[in-house]
Amino acid sequence: MICNRCHCENPDTSKFCKACGHLLGEDAPQQGAPNAGAAPQMPYPYTPAKRVGILDICGIIGFVGSTLGWFVAWAILCPVGLICSIIGFRGHYTRGLSVAGMVLSILGILIRVMEVLYRYNLLPAWVFQGVFH
Ligand SMILES: [Zn+2]
Repeated sequence: MICNRCHCENPDTSKFCKACGHLLGEDAPQQGAPNAGAAPQMPYPYTPAKRVGILDICGIIGFVGSTLGWFVAWAILCPVGLICSIIGFRGHYTRGLSVAGMVLSILGILIRVMEVLYRYNLLPAWVFQGVFH
């Protein structure tokens, strides 16, 4: 029997190569045909785990910013929240959160804009009838 590793001639009764100690036998790969009889390599159905990425973080920031914008610094937080929500919409986990952030920020901006328009009489009075009265 020929050793697969060092090609040393060994007695057929030997279990290990006398020269290098390599295991002799049928389970070792055959000389000259290393892949013969081996199972073909199946393409591993690898699906990358959806990790929390920058888009998800943007979605969270967008939602939080939009929510905070209803109470403080709406002129900054609502637009930032809207932008972050739009970015975060493409995230893996925060799609719902991003939609909520977009709605909140747009509503927040609209209400403030309407308040300003109302305060300075920039719109005809009938527009606000039933809203502010
Ligand atoms: Zn050997």
